[in-house]
Amino acid sequence: MPCSYCGGPTTILRSHVVPKFVIRYCRANSVGGALLYSWEREFHHEQITGPYLCSNCDNVVFSQWENHFSRDVFADPMTATHQWGNLSTLRFLASLVFRCALHNLRVAPTAVNQTQNELFRDRAKAAAADPAQFGNQLFVYPFVFRPITRTYVLMPGVNSFLTTGFHSRVHHAEGTLPNCMMVRLPRILLLYSEADLTRSGDPDFARYTDLRPGVVFNPSASNTGMPEAFAPFINQGINETIGHQRSYGWWQRWINRADQRLFPARMVYQARTWDAQHRDWQHANAPSQP
Ligand SMILES: [Zn+2]
Repeated sequence: MPCSYCGGPTTILRSHVVPKFVIRYCRANSVGGALLYSWEREFHHEQITGPYLCSNCDNVVFSQWENHFSRDVFADPMTATHQWGNLSTLRFLASLVFRCALHNLRVAPTAVNQTQNELFRDRAKAAAADPAQFGNQLFVYPFVFRPITRTYVLMPGVNSFLTTGFHSRVHHAEGTLPNCMMVRLPRILLLYSEADLTRSGDPDFARYTDLRPGVVFNPSASNTGMPEAFAPFINQGINETIGHQRSYGWWQRWINRADQRLFPARMVYQARTWDAQHRDWQHANAPSQP
């Protein structure tokens, strides 16, 4: 099978869909190396891979963009500013949604999402080669996580969900809203769109900021309402992932106080604390019964 990116003659069987640094982060911040907040059914599942890229694209071209992003942005996404508009950042973000779309088309080839996955596959491929496509044929709006403890619209569990897992899903065009695709990384949501969301007329998106070459992005003041704007999907994701964990007995098995005492800084434990604060806030502020 030819390489989906460069067209070279042979793909490797296990090119990476989810970058290695993301898997590394999830394992390091989980309990016992488990990947809890994904839909995967295997406890210590393999990295998500598939026959998409040639070894040069996977191990050299994409890897280089990944390394830059991992070091300059992912290490501390809230304090990154200029780094969000670097060409290597934009190329990485394009390569990420490109791989997610390819993977979705192969493993979940449902007709209902085919148009959207093909659209983002093709536009992301063009944007990886030419980042000037950002703000033109492809728009990307990042959200960087901060603890969520005071809202009714998101379920407790949202802090764990947004900090320790990864996933992607398409959002179909609806009314004036264009086709979108959301990629969730630990502590970062990436909303990709085929068109400028600020021109959609939807007040939720009127003040959104997208990334373009050279842009200085301020995560603490930009796109901060994204989790609430996507609350139905995020709550659905929380329910599904917790459901998986319960059905496989992981939830009980991995509440491990000894591990928590040894590694209190692990995100899994910090996020549980925020989720508990969120649950307490909702109880304390619940509207009184008529
Ligand atoms: Zn290639």
